[in-house]
Amino acid sequence: MSIDVSSPPLPGAEPLAPQDPGSLFAMAVDNVNTAGALCHLPEYVGAILSQPKNEIIVHFPVRLDDGRYRIFKGYRIQHNNVLGPYKGGIRYHPDLSLDDTKALALWMTMKCALMRLPFGGAKGGVKIDPRSVSSAELMRVTRRFTTALAANIGPETDIPAPDVGTNSQVMDWMMDTYLNTHGNSGIGLRHVVTGKSIACGGSEERDKATGQGLVYVLLELLPEFKIKLSGMTVSLLGFGNVAGYAASILTAAGATVRAVMDHSGSIIGSAGIPVEPLRSYVAQHGSIAGFAAPGVRPAHREEFYRTEVDLFIPAALERMVDHQVAQWLNCRIVAEGGNGPTTPEAAAILRRRGITLLPAILCNAGGVTVSYLEWVQNKTGVHWEAVHVDRELRKTITLAARRVRLAAHSLDTDMCNAAFCVALEHISRSYQQRGIFP
Ligand code: GLU
Repeated sequence: MSIDVSSPPLPGAEPLAPQDPGSLFAMAVDNVNTAGALCHLPEYVGAILSQPKNEIIVHFPVRLDDGRYRIFKGYRIQHNNVLGPYKGGIRYHPDLSLDDTKALALWMTMKCALMRLPFGGAKGGVKIDPRSVSSAELMRVTRRFTTALAANIGPETDIPAPDVGTNSQVMDWMMDTYLNTHGNSGIGLRHVVTGKSIACGGSEERDKATGQGLVYVLLELLPEFKIKLSGMTVSLLGFGNVAGYAASILTAAGATVRAVMDHSGSIIGSAGIPVEPLRSYVAQHGSIAGFAAPGVRPAHREEFYRTEVDLFIPAALERMVDHQVAQWLNCRIVAEGGNGPTTPEAAAILRRRGITLLPAILCNAGGVTVSYLEWVQNKTGVHWEAVHVDRELRKTITLAARRVRLAAHSLDTDMCNAAFCVALEHISRSYQQRGIFP
């Protein structure tokens, strides 16, 4: 596959160097540049994608329960909208930075393009530990943040969704705030946000969509490796929404979860960790620490990574799979459930060791795909049954997985480069047809 360059590159359109070469954003730009070189991406498209269109930084005061006020910092990075409205999650995390948000927004552009959704890419959030504030404080933070962003988001311009540290409750507050500050719109604009609760116009299956999407990708791609879900062994880094649902669906299909690690530590159960009791435990206690079951024991970090499994799913924060972890891993496939979990050095080590890496922009795209389905339902005033949503999700993500496999074969490259090439080709065609204004 190669992108047809019908016009010469624009003069002066060489990609801009990101400010910090070791940053997460530099890593994301590198994904584009590496794949771009492989599929002959026109230089000017690479240059456009090497910076976000808009970087919005806001500061706002919120009254705490004890009567004091605290100033919060929030971001919304609108990376690209050539294919449709900016789209992407809102993260609440104490370490959130501008640079990380830019990287996550770029990956959203790629993810939506790869899925062929009519969306661009964005990401945002607030620098806050959501566990350190009360529910009432979290609601006030969300409402002030939404008000600060209100001129920049909208159902046809930029559509937030849940991400790390946020959930359907936060999305419901965002939607309510937006509707209350946009005249007499009733619920007509509720598709300003996706990932809402069902009561507020959310879609069936949105909660489990990312984990379910990952399993559909595996169903499509694993036969090539002669691995079946039934009998497959798995380890998971992280045990939140994505890993929890993926673990449930995989074990229901006959797989065995042998090791789990989260921010509190790790556990190993060579004959299998009971997933449903672990999920209930985590829902109650906030982490896997203290979980007990027959045959399950605590393990240290290195032991966790060295556990022999067919499949390893990193579904926590960015860059947790570094060169050391890549050397320890004892698996055949790594399926990225979280965004940007693997450093470029780790990816190179995995490649040398013959471990296949399935990229996040494919593996975790189930969430934004069902977000799109929610947006369509809201726009057209319908509510689809779970089976219908599930069928659409499966179709969309399976076709994307096929495109990636085909590109990997035709370009003779790995799945990561292939996924970025498929996304870039789609974006590039749109730029070439539209031209650059004026
Ligand atoms: N936060 C999710 C992601 O990183 C979902 C985004 C969305 O639904 O817009 O893909």
